[in-house]
Amino acid sequence: MLIKLYISLYLFQFMKKNSKKIQKSEVEWKKTLSEEQYKVLREKSTELPFSGELLYNKDSGKYMCLACGNPLFKSDTKFDSGTGWPSFSDVIKGAVKLKDDNSLLMKRTEVLCSKCGSHLGHLFNDGPSPTGQRYCLNSVCLNFKKEKGKK
Ligand SMILES: [Zn+2]
Repeated sequence: MLIKLYISLYLFQFMKKNSKKIQKSEVEWKKTLSEEQYKVLREKSTELPFSGELLYNKDSGKYMCLACGNPLFKSDTKFDSGTGWPSFSDVIKGAVKLKDDNSLLMKRTEVLCSKCGSHLGHLFNDGPSPTGQRYCLNSVCLNFKKEKGKK
């Protein structure tokens, strides 16, 4: 009996150490996200343009994945693309994964959180210099953390 308990505790610790990536079932995600957040983050829907809370946010700080808190973008890479979605010219290294997306008869690049695999938006190559990239994000997928002491 005790041995069994010891083994499961050991396994639990082992699993904890090896689970840098967040893996939740869709049922678990549904519990922690609002209906709109779930639709976009887990079902790859797109929020309506000009609807996002963070679209016009100009404060200094970091934008994180709403689902898992992974830091994704710095405020100094945010720019006004006129598209109606928060846009960034660069991403924090290793924060996102890119994937070919051929849905809706378009050839696009999907942007996913590298930590939890949630859908965040799309990447286009018509952004400002020097990167030329435009990360087109759903505001609903982002959490903003303001940098202390800055405007
Ligand atoms: Zn995430």
